[in-house]
Amino acid sequence: MKRIGLLTSGGDAPGMNAAIRAVVRSGIYFGMEVYGVERGYAGLIEDNIIPMEMRSVSNIVQCGGTRLRTARCLEMLTVEGQKKALDTLEKHGIEGLVVIGGDGSFRGAETLSKYGVPTIGIPGTIDNDLEYTDYTLGFDTAVNTCLDIINKLRDTMTSHERVSVVEVMGRHCGDIALYSGIASGAEIIVVPEITFDIHEIVSRINRSRASGKHSNIIVVAEGVMSAEKFAGQLQELTEYSVRPTCIGHVQRGGSPSMSDRMLAAQFGNKAVRLLNENVGNRVVGIRDNKIIDMDIIEAVSMKKTFNYELYETLQMISM
Ligand code: ATP
Repeated sequence: MKRIGLLTSGGDAPGMNAAIRAVVRSGIYFGMEVYGVERGYAGLIEDNIIPMEMRSVSNIVQCGGTRLRTARCLEMLTVEGQKKALDTLEKHGIEGLVVIGGDGSFRGAETLSKYGVPTIGIPGTIDNDLEYTDYTLGFDTAVNTCLDIINKLRDTMTSHERVSVVEVMGRHCGDIALYSGIASGAEIIVVPEITFDIHEIVSRINRSRASGKHSNIIVVAEGVMSAEKFAGQLQELTEYSVRPTCIGHVQRGGSPSMSDRMLAAQFGNKAVRLLNENVGNRVVGIRDNKIIDMDIIEAVSMKKTFNYELYETLQMISM
């Protein structure tokens, strides 16, 4: 393969730039020309293609966001849109494509593979909502951002003896809430995978206060309800002062953590190694600390499972 393309799609995630760098540099190592597609599938359909050189990716390994920018593109769901995307690839002689994004972006990649373009997916999404890989790119940084904010909230909540309800991202997957809850020492997490009982939560708060605790942290995934709404419901049932905080889009930004930069380097390199062997229709990931690849359809059809053991751990050690 002599010429490959690269795009970022769906929600952005810290580490996407480091992955772009790894793909471009690995491609050049194998003697390929690498083309960047701006704004995901929208840019592919609209022919927004730029050549990427060794120096185009200098000084971005530490940057959040994505230099190629990203978009959600409804036209890619139509056959006409897909044909336009294929025309752009053909026009530029692009023989293989690396797609960095979540499961939706992988479905787009699978479609292009079906039309005969070898495509490799890199899991770039803060949600960690893909079952086939232990971690997605951006998750670690997003959780660290949540930890930084929860640490600060704990200071003020303790001074005022308040209950803090913190809303983190995760529409269907509670991993950001689970990991940031455990790592910040939150007493309670509320996730889409588990039905919650507000009276049980009130009892836990009361028990912790009776044992000498001066504040409480409750981490709520956005897919359950907003911090504002949850805090309102809780305030009706408790004498302690409850304060909502929505962390919001800050979670998507910032310099990637060491873990995310390492994943980016390895995922990007593996994706290009596969294309160099003319292998397509795969996604890369990490399992049991080993970089793996898997059929795209198989990967996107796996249902994400929740780590109940970690949830129990939180319940046992946070009180
Ligand atoms: P995130 O996890 O951050 O939401 P994502 O990649 O899952 O990222 P989506 O909005 O679901 O985000 O998908 C990104 C883009 O992928 C869509 O806007 C669309 O252009 C393309 N896409 C999604 N599903 C398909 C599909 N079935 N066929 C072709 N393209 C698709």
